[in-house]
Amino acid sequence: MDNTGRSLSCDIAIAGSGVAGLCAALQAVLLGKKTILMESLPRFGGSWNGTYGIMGVESPISEKQDIHVDVRALVNQEVRIFHYQVDAKLWMDVADASGENIAWLMEQGVQFEEELEPYTAGEINAPVFHRWKKGSNPSGTMLKEFLRLGGTALSGTRAEELILEDGKVAGLKAVQGEETLTIRCGAVIAAGGGYAKNTEMVAFTTGRTDCACRAIGNNDGSTIRMCMDAGAKSLWQTGALITDLIPAGMKSVHHWLTYIHSRPGTYPFHIYVNQDGERYVNEACARELFGFQTCAAFTQEKTFTIYDEGKLKKLQELNGNDVFTILSQAAQKGSEGVFRADTAEELARKLGLDPVKLAETVRNYNGYCRDGKDTEYEKDPAFLESFETGPFYGWENTFQIASSLSGIDYNRKMEVLGADAGPVPGLYVAGTDGAKLWRDYYSLCIPGSCNANNVYSGRRAAMSAAEYIG
Ligand SMILES: Cc1cc2nc3c(=O)[nH]c(=O)nc-3n(C[C@H](O)[C@H](O)[C@H](O)COP(=O)(O)OP(=O)(O)OC[C@H]3O[C@@H](n4cnc5c(N)ncnc54)[C@H](O)[C@@H]3O)c2cc1C
Repeated sequence: MDNTGRSLSCDIAIAGSGVAGLCAALQAVLLGKKTILMESLPRFGGSWNGTYGIMGVESPISEKQDIHVDVRALVNQEVRIFHYQVDAKLWMDVADASGENIAWLMEQGVQFEEELEPYTAGEINAPVFHRWKKGSNPSGTMLKEFLRLGGTALSGTRAEELILEDGKVAGLKAVQGEETLTIRCGAVIAAGGGYAKNTEMVAFTTGRTDCACRAIGNNDGSTIRMCMDAGAKSLWQTGALITDLIPAGMKSVHHWLTYIHSRPGTYPFHIYVNQDGERYVNEACARELFGFQTCAAFTQEKTFTIYDEGKLKKLQELNGNDVFTILSQAAQKGSEGVFRADTAEELARKLGLDPVKLAETVRNYNGYCRDGKDTEYEKDPAFLESFETGPFYGWENTFQIASSLSGIDYNRKMEVLGADAGPVPGLYVAGTDGAKLWRDYYSLCIPGSCNANNVYSGRRAAMSAAEYIG
C-alpha cells in the first residue's frame, strides 16, 4: 500500500466496532485517550444487535434478586470440558469481572431484562444469562456515548496493515472508499470479530465448504492477518466455531432462528442419518453439551434430520413457537430443502438417499423404541419414540456458523503475543479475534460467555493500551 491519502492521529486506534471494539472504544475515551474506532461496513455494531445477551455473575441484577452462583464451579467445569487445553486464569478473569462489566454497561445506558435465564443443558443449571432489553439497541447506545465523549468513529473504513517502527506499533493503514488513510497512534486494538465469513479459513479449520455464516459483521479474518503480518502468533488454525445444525436450504433468517430456538438438540425425538442413510450418533448428545451434535456431524460427509409429523408437532408444542408450521409449509411449497413423504422410502428418494437403507434404519430404530433400548448408540429411552405412521419429514443439514473463536495469541493484559517471544509492543486484541477460552467447539455450558469475554477483553485491552501509552 502506498503512503498517499489522508493522515490522522490518535492515542488508540481500534479496528472493528462489534461488542469488543465498542467496549474498547468507550473504555479508552473514558480513560481520556484520543480514540479512533474503525468499521469496514457502513454500519457500526458488528453482530452485537444479533446477539441475545451476556453472562454475568454477581451483577446488579442478580444481586437484587439474591442470586449467587458458584463461579469457580462454572469455570472448572468449562476448563475440564476442553481437556484443560484452555487457560483457567483467563477464564477466571472473565468470569470474575462479568458482574461488574454488566454494571458498567448499565452505566453506559445499556438496558437488560430483569429476569435471568439459566442454561438448561450440561451439568450446571445456573441463572447467569442476562438478556438485552427487548427492543433496545445496545450497540447504538454505546456508539452514541462514545461520540458524546469525543471519540471518532469511521464507518466504511477497513484496517489493512500495521505500521511498525523499531519493532513497536506506531499506527495503521486503512482504506476508506477509494482513499488510503494513515493513522498514527500509540496503540492498536484488533477487534475484527474473527474469520467466520472467510470461507477459506473456515474450510481449513473444518475441512468443509458447506457452512453458512450468520454473523452480521464482515468477519473476514483481515484483522487476524494484519496482526500475523506484524509478527503475531496465530491460534485460529486450532480454534473453535460457534455452530448449529440447520436445514441446508433454509434461507430465511426468521426460519433459522425459529428452528434453532425450537431446540431440537434438547428434545431429540428425531433421528440423524448420514449420506448412507445410517444413524451415526446418539441424537441426545446435545443435551449433554450443545456443541456435540455439530461435532458428530462434522465426522460425516452429509447429514440429514428425519422427523414424523407427530414429533415435529410435539417440538412446536414444547417450545410454544411455530416450527412445525414453518417446516410443513416449506415442505408443501417444495422450498428450503424440506421434504414431506408418506413413507420412509419415498422420503429417502426425495432426499437423494438409498430408500432400502433408510427404511431399514427406521425399522431398526422402531425396534429399539419398542424394546426401550437403543443397542447402537444408547440414546436416552425418554426420547425413543418410533416412526410408525407418516407423513415423514426430512432435510439435509448444514453448519450455521455464528462466530469463530480463537484468532491470535494474547496474555492476560490482552497484549498480542509474537510468534517468537513476548508481546508485540503496542498491539492488543479483543473479542473473537482473540477468544482462546474455547477449544474444538463452543460448549455453551455458560450461556453468553462469548459476550462476557468480548466485553471483558475490550475493556481490558483499552486499559492496558492506555497504561502502555502513559
Ligand atoms: C446471530 C448471533 C447471535 C449470537 N448470540 C450470542 C449471545 O446471545 N451471547 C453471546 O455471548 N454470544 C453470541 N454470539 C457470539 C458472539 O458474541 C458474537 O459473534 C460477537 O458479536 C463477537 O463480537 P466481536 O466484537 O468480537 O465481533 P463482531 O461483533 O463481529 O464485530 C467485529 C466488527 O469488525 C469489523 N471488521 C472486520 N474486519 C475489519 C477491518 N479489517 N477493519 C475494520 N473493521 C473490521 C466487522 O465488520 C464487524 O463489524 C452470537 C453471534 C451471532 C452471529
